[in-house]
Amino acid sequence: MIKGTIDVKTENIFPIIKKFLYSDHEIFLRELVSNAVDATQKLKTLASTGQLKEELGDITIQVEVDKKKRTITIRDRGIGMTQDEVEKYINQIAFSSAEEFVKKFKTKTEAESNAIIGHFGLGFYSSFMVSEKVELFTKTYKKGGSTKPVKWECDGSPEYTISETEKKDRGTEIVLHIDKENDEFLEEYRIRELLNKYCKFLPVPIQFGTKKEDEPIEGEADEDGNPKTISIEKPWIINNINPLWKKTPTEATDEDYKKFYQELYPMSFDEPLFNIHLNVDYPFNLTGILYFPKVKQNYELQRNKIQLYSNQVFVTDSVEGIVPDFLTLLHGVIDSPDIPLNVSRSFLQSDQNVKKISGYISKKVADKLEELFKKDREAFEKKWDDIKIFIHYGMISDAKFYDRAEKLALLKNVDSKYFTIEEYRTHIEANQKDKDNKTIFLYATNAEDQFSYIESAKERGYDVLLMDGVLDPHFVNTLEQKLKDSSFVRVDSNTIDKLIVKDDSALPSKLDDKQKEDLKAAFEKVIDSKQFDVSFENLSETDMPVTITQNEFMRRMKDMNALGGGQMMGFGDFPDHYTLVVNANHAVVAGLTEKDEEEKTKTIQHLYDLARLSKNLLKGKYLNEFVKRSLMKI
Ligand code: ADP
Repeated sequence: MIKGTIDVKTENIFPIIKKFLYSDHEIFLRELVSNAVDATQKLKTLASTGQLKEELGDITIQVEVDKKKRTITIRDRGIGMTQDEVEKYINQIAFSSAEEFVKKFKTKTEAESNAIIGHFGLGFYSSFMVSEKVELFTKTYKKGGSTKPVKWECDGSPEYTISETEKKDRGTEIVLHIDKENDEFLEEYRIRELLNKYCKFLPVPIQFGTKKEDEPIEGEADEDGNPKTISIEKPWIINNINPLWKKTPTEATDEDYKKFYQELYPMSFDEPLFNIHLNVDYPFNLTGILYFPKVKQNYELQRNKIQLYSNQVFVTDSVEGIVPDFLTLLHGVIDSPDIPLNVSRSFLQSDQNVKKISGYISKKVADKLEELFKKDREAFEKKWDDIKIFIHYGMISDAKFYDRAEKLALLKNVDSKYFTIEEYRTHIEANQKDKDNKTIFLYATNAEDQFSYIESAKERGYDVLLMDGVLDPHFVNTLEQKLKDSSFVRVDSNTIDKLIVKDDSALPSKLDDKQKEDLKAAFEKVIDSKQFDVSFENLSETDMPVTITQNEFMRRMKDMNALGGGQMMGFGDFPDHYTLVVNANHAVVAGLTEKDEEEKTKTIQHLYDLARLSKNLLKGKYLNEFVKRSLMKI
């Protein structure tokens, strides 16, 4: 037996590994299983080039938990190590890289450390995060010379021992003696959970436990002629060694993509809308599949579902900084060994490779959308309501994406007809230009609530867009900035003739200034003056006697604030404010001047209630009073 001391340069790193790197203890399993996979892959390469002098045999990696003995065992049939190699790889190389890792870790803030630890770096020595003692039994694939199996053992002090051991099988077996603080890892469900999280798509079969499977019994059938089955205990292989993203896109069918989505998100009941298969190897290596999911109104919940892998090893499901922000709403996997993982987020964002990757993904998404749009416009329109959130988000936040998406982004009008932006502009240009030659885009945010306003716009021959998406307030702003000589106004932001001002000439008024002033005072007595201003306008006789409008600018500020994107803090706290527009030329309004006080107040109350009703503002007590009053008149 050889006793030795690991060459500790700075100080004993074991207590540091144990105590300070506590936040992500669970990654030890990923690190050890990844090593087992590497050792197996190396052996496969040797076998394929004829350098292996024996049969490859079963290469399944086994993971076992023994709660009584308090051990976890990871066993592979990979290349194994000679005694010299254990000295070199485990005592020197693995140790010094762990030491370097710990040094790096110590100079970081806690947040940065968490980000680092979750990724790669610590390797074999991460086993000491959960163990009081680690044993390693290994037998090399090599023949002859000093190739006897060896055992390495270390109890978390810099002292280790190496001795000869009995081991029939080629490969490495690592036995962790779990310490008291880490009992959780002796639970089978916990290990299964971790294998599922980190090892689900590793390229070598990994067995953990057994499961029962029904197998047909040969030659035996039941009364209906179906083969009889017998339940057999079989090794439980926890991973899929050929995940779909590794295949070439032409090999995969639509059905495969849907199935794979289920594999990634077993708890999801929705089918994705479509997918994009990523596959490049120059100037960086990246494979993956991105899915466009059906986005719910509460889209924040669906963020950060993309899983990031490095050579099929799960790394994280937080891809912030790697994919453009608007694409964090997509689902799927990205696998790239070229994304530097053991660095902080801020470093990641400035990394040139990462920038290229982000640009590539963005471009691929735009390509796919363009392809769908060009191939089948009708099908694209059907999907539009579900995908518009990504496209809007992208157009708002990414100028390059805007330029690509401008041609295919659709606008939908209140009659559910779809237009590209250019088509729509052409559609409304003849009728919706104001006196300054600006094209006015009219829109509604709720077709029910704004029904009467939409109707009066339609009576004028105007077209009204439906902008009822969560991001539409921002999108309207973006469009307004990008489209020259145009502006967007909501249908209820002004009286119909002022929405699109075609000339300056005003209609004459049936009321003189004195009459207007008296009537204004009478209105102000009835209405809630905190919420409403009264304004007299000379509209046409056929327009409504009283209408409620809401200033476009103020309302937008409020909407933006509600979305968390407004610049003017505090705006969102204001109650909604409206203008009660009284049509000085309507017969009922003109008639008010001849009524006595009591009758006048009653009529004003009724007009006010009717106006609020058409804007869906008459509620609760006021609605109840209105209903009662109306009933008395029947
Ligand atoms: P890394 O895997 O990043 O090289 P590790 O600390 O995990 O760092 O491992 C150090 C080295 O120890 C590996 O490069 C490999 O040579 C050797 N090693 C670790 N585990 C095994 C194993 N299961 N079989 C064979 N060699 C191994």
